Amino acid sequence: MKYVSTRGRAPVLSFEEAMMTGLARDGGLYLPESIPVMTTAQIAALEGLPYEEVAFQVMWPFLGGAFTAEEFREILARSYAGFAHAAKAPLKQLAPGHFLLELFHGPTLAFKDFAMQLIGQMMQASLTKSGKRITIVGATSGDTGSAAMEAFRGLENVDVFILYPHGRVSDVQRRQMTTPSKANVHAVAIDGTFDDAQARVKDMFNDFAFRDEVGLAGVNSINWARVLAQVVYYFSAAVSLGAPGRKVSFTVPTGNFGDVFAGYIAKQMGLPIERLVVATNQNDILHRCLSTGAYIPDGVQPSISPSMDIQVSSNFERALYFAYGKDGAAVAGLMEELKAGGFTLSQGVKAALAGAFDSGRCSEAETSATITATLKNAAELLCPHTAVGVKVAEEQRVQGVPMITLATAHPAKFPDAVEAASGIRPGLPPHMADLFERPERVTRLSNDLSALEAHVREHRRK
Ligand SMILES: *Cc1c(COP(=O)(O)O)cnc(C)c1O
Repeated sequence: MKYVSTRGRAPVLSFEEAMMTGLARDGGLYLPESIPVMTTAQIAALEGLPYEEVAFQVMWPFLGGAFTAEEFREILARSYAGFAHAAKAPLKQLAPGHFLLELFHGPTLAFKDFAMQLIGQMMQASLTKSGKRITIVGATSGDTGSAAMEAFRGLENVDVFILYPHGRVSDVQRRQMTTPSKANVHAVAIDGTFDDAQARVKDMFNDFAFRDEVGLAGVNSINWARVLAQVVYYFSAAVSLGAPGRKVSFTVPTGNFGDVFAGYIAKQMGLPIERLVVATNQNDILHRCLSTGAYIPDGVQPSISPSMDIQVSSNFERALYFAYGKDGAAVAGLMEELKAGGFTLSQGVKAALAGAFDSGRCSEAETSATITATLKNAAELLCPHTAVGVKVAEEQRVQGVPMITLATAHPAKFPDAVEAASGIRPGLPPHMADLFERPERVTRLSNDLSALEAHVREHRRK
């Protein structure tokens, strides 16, 4: 199994190399050369298996021998041991034909743990074999950062720097990043938005001298290994509701397009997904692009679902690559246009995307109203991101096809928004109960590449 860049001009890599590299050297994102397909019988056989075994069956064909089967099973066991629910990704019914896929039972209470715990264990296994050191630099809109710190804290061969937009993450999210005591994880608050933070991380990857000097590695959702880890729960959920004998649909609260793109891969692999619905908050560039064909960023409006406050949605490039018939040069051209302000898709490409993805938008008022209504009607307290999904799912649901909305975070990560809507302040689980007493450690820096690079150089272990 080989991996190619969406822009077609970077070296072809193995799974392990693509995982360690993150962003391709031509600025593109890695994708498998071809998508392995599972037969109906293979999908049916997943029913009732432990989550780790479903993960093994779904991911194994993508690994290209990076690990032995035994090594990979051990990696999976370690990755999901810290989850607080035996099913790892349990389904809960919300209304007739509408289900929640709870992805917040991992150590940092958001779906990011599914991929981050796994990538942490896989990278450690690789580095132990090679004896190399790496420096991970990542940007976060809130949840990726804490998940990465939790997955890599204390690891011998890895230093981690997480950039988050100062003042634009919830207090719980910030404290999850600023309170880990291990010396190899570093929180950096930058002046600007998530898009600024993400742009600086991309700049660091494009500074090849710096990249090679510090052994830069990426764990943002551009990392293929993260997308792959997220494919698994589409299978486990669909099979629980009767797939492959029956089709299901998914609605996915979306920001950087990683999670919903994993659903697209599951569908390419043969999982009978009827519709994949992209749900955005008021930062609705993806909904606008899917409905009009124009992708024109117009500034981030901070919302009560901050992990989706994004205007430059990195993984969308992967969907564009397929919509353009794997034409890397065409994708590279669009990304050049984006630098100059935006791009407009041709009718054919727009139709191809519309065939793969539906979309909807949820305003701030609708998000709060959905939290209120869901508490009343289903006795469920939703996080604001999940509420965006539930609202859009209710609009798009059709009779006869179960709709599964991804519950992307635990409500206790966003207590202010949840309390304002529901009157209930969700409590943190026991392992985090003292979060507000722990000392914080963070460096505030300007949105400036050389200042950020200097900080990484100075603080990484040599
Ligand atoms: C990251 C995140 C999202 C958005 O996921 P993408 O893969 O970036 O589309 C939605 N909800 C929560 C809680 C998140 O942490």
